[in-house]
Amino acid sequence: MQTGLPPELDALKNTIRQVVKDECVPLEAHYLANPPMEGQDDGGPRGIAQAVMGIVGTLDKEKWGRLNNISKQTGIYTSFVPEEYGGGGMGALGHVVLDEEVHKSIVQLPTSPVPMMMFGACTPEQEQRYLHPAIQGDLQYAFAQTEPEAGSDPGGMMQTRAVKDGDDWVINGTKMFISGAATADFILLQAVTDPELRQRGGITMFIIDNPTPGMTFDPIRIWTSPTRSQQHFIHLDNVRVPQTQVLGEVGQGFTLGQKWLVHHDRLLRGSMATGILSRALDMAIEWSKQRVTYGRPIADRQAIQWMLTDVYTDIMTLRSFTRETAARADNGEDVRVESSMIKYCAGEWGWRSIDKIMQIFGGMGETLDMPIAHWYLLLRHARIGGGTSEIHKFVMARALLNGSVSYQG
Ligand SMILES: Cc1cc2nc3c(=O)[nH]c(=O)nc-3n(C[C@H](O)[C@H](O)[C@H](O)COP(=O)(O)OP(=O)(O)OC[C@H]3O[C@@H](n4cnc5c(N)ncnc54)[C@H](O)[C@@H]3O)c2cc1C
Repeated sequence: MQTGLPPELDALKNTIRQVVKDECVPLEAHYLANPPMEGQDDGGPRGIAQAVMGIVGTLDKEKWGRLNNISKQTGIYTSFVPEEYGGGGMGALGHVVLDEEVHKSIVQLPTSPVPMMMFGACTPEQEQRYLHPAIQGDLQYAFAQTEPEAGSDPGGMMQTRAVKDGDDWVINGTKMFISGAATADFILLQAVTDPELRQRGGITMFIIDNPTPGMTFDPIRIWTSPTRSQQHFIHLDNVRVPQTQVLGEVGQGFTLGQKWLVHHDRLLRGSMATGILSRALDMAIEWSKQRVTYGRPIADRQAIQWMLTDVYTDIMTLRSFTRETAARADNGEDVRVESSMIKYCAGEWGWRSIDKIMQIFGGMGETLDMPIAHWYLLLRHARIGGGTSEIHKFVMARALLNGSVSYQG
């Protein structure tokens, strides 16, 4: 089948697909049968990506180590990291293609947990101390923007303040829902440094080592990982960090965060949804052919066929738009509105499609021994996390009304 991908990327995609099928899928039953308990090490990567996904199982350290080694040896691990940082340089398109394949198993093949917003923003010292170890997976990070009063409007409502004191900054405030915060080695945290300017030059990004005196955590229980908290409050009480811990320029922290969200986080929501749905559709087709009621497999019923075709349509449409937008981002085009559309569709279509898959499986779809129920929660969360569907519609509506987008084809 023609994929329209460059040959090198197509080959890498096939390698990842085989690795996921041969190495990750066979581990799923064991993984799901052993949910992690509060305070327990699940043995796997402990990064923001895993925390957002909701860790729902455990594997032995050796098994995770094997997956990690395969990913590194095949070049998958850093394939999307820019070449100047030692990666494969496959860009945003490479990243979404890889990410889709990785999401075809609930046991996620480890890939570099690199904090993309650090590229081009670090000092040489920050690159050595944080960025390079993070690219290799030796350090994990968390991203702290949301607060109790500031979710959909972080720029306007952020309360966490950083005040200059000699060569240091002193930070006070509370962050909320921060994925992977408690186990991260460092936290990329936004704080208001100029209350007049706020998101227009008054918010700064700090690299905060974890632990740093004055910082405490409280767990938040979320349904995507019910047995062990992955999200936390971070309370900052006179947390003191030197000027050398500012990422990029003072006042430019909001822009740094948005750039990352637009170019990576939102596009990756598209590939996450298509990856999960492609695997789930495989499973539903197989199931519907062998599940018999009233003397015939349920696959013979139009009610089931229409659900299968609805999911198929969502996958194909979302995939091609995600890849096209990623390719345009790699060409340096402004894809802010398209990224919002992808994030919106990943959440809304992802959720409606996994709901159909669950319906096809009947009661089996609700058991926690299969990935479907876990994917259901995750794709429901996709309508909220990373900016709600309403906020992304707001971004699209603004662009439509001010005439900055074209839809004439
Ligand atoms: C599991 C999980 C993981 C998360 N991980 C992180 C993380 O690692 N780092 C981080 O910083 N944050 C994280 N978040 C926070 C997440 O980004 C926010 O929850 C999300 O942006 C929504 O903000 P909110 O919850 O404050 O909703 P609110 O802003 O309170 O919105 C409530 C409702 O009002 C609607 N609404 C708000 N404003 C408008 C408007 N102008 N027009 C129409 N409708 C509107 C919203 O769409 C929503 O339906 C995480 C959240 C969860 C649940």
